[in-house]
Amino acid sequence: MSKAEYAVQLQAAADFIRKHDDFLVVSHVQPDGDATGSTFGVAWMLHALGKSFTLINEGPMPSKFHYMAGPHPIWNFEQKEPERMFAAVISVDCADFGRIGQVRRCFAPGFQLLNIDHHATNDSFGTVNLVQADAAATVEVLYDLAAELAVDCSDEWNVCIYSGLLTDTGGFRYSNTSPKVMRIASELLSRGVQGHELAERLLEKMTFAQVSLLKSSLTTLSFAHDKRVAWLSVSTDQLLASGASSEDMDGLVNYARNVEGVSVGILFKEKKPGVVKVSLRSGGEANVAEIAQRFGGGGHIRAAGCTVEGSLQEAIDRVVQEVGSALL
Ligand code: 5GP
Ligand code: MN
Repeated sequence: MSKAEYAVQLQAAADFIRKHDDFLVVSHVQPDGDATGSTFGVAWMLHALGKSFTLINEGPMPSKFHYMAGPHPIWNFEQKEPERMFAAVISVDCADFGRIGQVRRCFAPGFQLLNIDHHATNDSFGTVNLVQADAAATVEVLYDLAAELAVDCSDEWNVCIYSGLLTDTGGFRYSNTSPKVMRIASELLSRGVQGHELAERLLEKMTFAQVSLLKSSLTTLSFAHDKRVAWLSVSTDQLLASGASSEDMDGLVNYARNVEGVSVGILFKEKKPGVVKVSLRSGGEANVAEIAQRFGGGGHIRAAGCTVEGSLQEAIDRVVQEVGSALL
């Protein structure tokens, strides 16, 4: 997207926020650091503008993100459904409408939606769309939107934005770590964000349950297609035995992806019998967003995901074959 097009989108998004009130802010199911940072990031911006808003996610917020504070907590839709509907919605970090999950049930008829995202596969499902595929994270887009809205940024907001950048760039290591990402990170550090503490908290520390899960999932490491494809799997039994939760599986896929010579690393997570969540990571030779889309998912060229129906073995067979043919 050209600079001029992006400027137009930023203006339209700012107009949407100025024009409406009483917002529902939602991110994707099983929120990651960028989704959580973006939800609270938008919340702080609405707070600064004197707007009222409600933050809702389909499930609970992973405990490792509890340090990220918002003006209000994020409501867990699964625990209690709100007794009202919302006419103005802001979705963050959602590549498509489905990623919003069950929270869509509290959108009022004729609702207006501002879609703020950075996924190349985003299908512009909003009434207004602010989708910058060149951004490393949705929080990077929020950084620009805050400037457009001329809102004062709180210390908490700075932490949320930094957290989203840190997690979506894998600690400023992935190819999406642009000069702009580093400029924003530098600005946030100079405002007092404790980058090393966030890195330790979000990227280094492991719970005992996480190490147990790592130990058990590494026993499933397998290879195909001249060892250019590697995968790990986690069955519901393995997850239960380790005492870990599904959020603890974040990052496991890298153990497959990081093996020398591997082009695509995959993690298969059995959600329940017959439903397998698939995470795909590529070194750049294969476009995993395209592969994920063939299974109804999406994401980025180097990091994508989808959900496959069938047993763990069936999902492995289908996806590994598809990845193999993409590598030909
Ligand atoms: P992860 O493997 O960490 O769950 O997701 C990697 C990337 O793929 C993220 O950018 C995420 O937004 C995207 N992604 C994961 N699962 C899905 C999915 O089911 N649908 C779509 N559209 N994107 C997904
Ligand atoms: Mn993101």
